[in-house]
Amino acid sequence: MIGYKDNILMCEDIDIRELAEVYDSPFYIYSKNDILNKIRFLKDIFSSLDNVLIAYAVKAENNLSILKMMADEGIGADVVSIGETLKYIKAGGKAENIVFSGVAKTEEEIRKSIELNIKRFNIESIPEAVRINNIAKEMKKRVKCSIRVNPNVDAHTHEKITTGVTGNKFGISIKTIRENANLLKSLDNISIESLSMHIGSQMTDSEPFYKAILAMKDFINDVNSMGFNITDIDIGGGYGVRYDKNSSGFDFEHFKSKSINLLKEMNLNVTTEPGRYFVAESGALIMRVEYIKEELGRKYAILDGGMNDYIRVAMYDAYNDICPLVKKENVSNYDFVGPICESSDFFAYNRECSFIEEADYVALLDAGAYGFSMSSNYNSRPLISQIMVDKDKHYVIRKRQTFEDMIANEII
Ligand SMILES: *Cc1c(COP(=O)(O)O)cnc(C)c1O
Repeated sequence: MIGYKDNILMCEDIDIRELAEVYDSPFYIYSKNDILNKIRFLKDIFSSLDNVLIAYAVKAENNLSILKMMADEGIGADVVSIGETLKYIKAGGKAENIVFSGVAKTEEEIRKSIELNIKRFNIESIPEAVRINNIAKEMKKRVKCSIRVNPNVDAHTHEKITTGVTGNKFGISIKTIRENANLLKSLDNISIESLSMHIGSQMTDSEPFYKAILAMKDFINDVNSMGFNITDIDIGGGYGVRYDKNSSGFDFEHFKSKSINLLKEMNLNVTTEPGRYFVAESGALIMRVEYIKEELGRKYAILDGGMNDYIRVAMYDAYNDICPLVKKENVSNYDFVGPICESSDFFAYNRECSFIEEADYVALLDAGAYGFSMSSNYNSRPLISQIMVDKDKHYVIRKRQTFEDMIANEII
């Protein structure tokens, strides 16, 4: 819960100005109870189904403290690398609740995942199925797999985060599955028990979700008629959040009445893989105003945080609210820009904001997902700290990199 109370921006019970006095800017903050509320809300949405695994898409934010919260709440993990698997287990998560997605699983990642006994591989190509089978055979194991199908349903979201239409690299088409059914059935060391999908991210309309599950229902019948025995469905993630508070978030009411009901009818074990939904609105990036620069009629608020700290605006034209820590009566329009030497290093153009000046702080809201986890050392800037807020307490969950940390692996 990050929001204004009497014109002061609060994270739970803490005035964020207090945090800005304690921690070096820029830094990320997260509301612990907001994350917990999101987890409980989603559990409730799925509560009418008998056998559900909610697997957090670790790539959205992989701090060990946040992964521990997930594990403590009985949330599994959807991972896309062995690094994410090891972090989730390190944080107390169980291997049996891990599903491994991603198009480029290496031999080493597959071997290690089989050793750890993860729940399932979500297979994205025929050669991957063959590779997993060969490794499992070597290890004298039989491993559970899901085939990620591309249901060819447009999720109505940004093109760089649409994943479920023909022509992107994810999943296998039903045509290819049919052509390779005999090959797949001959792979004795994998057991294909599930079909999975993930049609896109930041969906607000839940109808495409429903359409995709409906298409999956047909695929499952098709695949069963080819001689498989599908017992599970993985519906992916993509539940959208309200970056713009005037917009609506994901339509959970519609989802519950249509998609959940359909899943109930299908009577399969269900996995879902929310990432963004759990953490986006719970996090904010706090930055200091270094300069106010006025130039040819424009007013730039030049911040000490940039696209290396939060890349979603530069990369996906994302919208995030930007709020001063104290809201004043007067407003002005600003271009919020960062220190990186790229024109794409901005957070908002010509955005109305209550009056700010040099040395004030601003919060980029809803930055908890794909925020820190996509940050980099570009421009030789250290990775910044992450702070957890729990009611009136705050603590560091990741220390800011020092200069020494940053160059530690370099050889001169
Ligand atoms: C990224 C990803 C997710 C999570 O997507 P969100 O939009 O963050 O919910 C789920 N499943 C797969 C396979 C993914 O790649």
